[in-house]
Amino acid sequence: MASTSTPEQKVILVGDFGVGKSSLFRRYMCDTFINSNDRKATLGLDHYSKTFVVNGRNLKLLLFDTGGMERIASVTSSYYKFAEAAILCFAMDNANSFHSLSQHLVDITMFAENARIFLCGNKMDLPSEVTDDDMQQFCEQCHGLIQGTFKTSCKNNLNINEMFTVIAQSLCETN
Ligand code: GDP
Repeated sequence: MASTSTPEQKVILVGDFGVGKSSLFRRYMCDTFINSNDRKATLGLDHYSKTFVVNGRNLKLLLFDTGGMERIASVTSSYYKFAEAAILCFAMDNANSFHSLSQHLVDITMFAENARIFLCGNKMDLPSEVTDDDMQQFCEQCHGLIQGTFKTSCKNNLNINEMFTVIAQSLCETN
């Protein structure tokens, strides 16, 4: 059981609309997947928490989702503020979402300057427009800013727990 003194770490999901940020969130927190675009019926910033035990220590991840409001500039800075980790998301089947990463990275470094940054290529169950080499090259261009890369599928529940566990471990090392 976590004590009230459990350190809390804010983790945000950043990326183009439709890449699967809410789905990653939902899959990780509730182990469900909704194969539809109707899930944006409720607008608003949602956040949930999950407590981990890493190396014998409790760590509470506070995971934030924009609920589809990422295109509204006024929510941007409050969404990013105080994030300890940011997951830079794109969809493997959508090269445009990959090409948007640089702009999202600029936002992260501007509004969440202390966040550890991880790269997530979601929808790996679909035919891919982005190769492992593309991902590696992007990381090289980021000069060490990206602390880990993952390919996930919310639909098939692939690598999502693994990704969040690595992120929690990484946050635990510094706290
Ligand atoms: P967001 O706008 O980034 O939050 O994206 P959503 O989580 O709302 O997902 C957009 C669409 O992609 C929805 O129809 C999801 O069902 C679908 N989707 C999300 N993740 C996956 C995945 O891993 N594989 C497939 N095939 N579809 C996905």
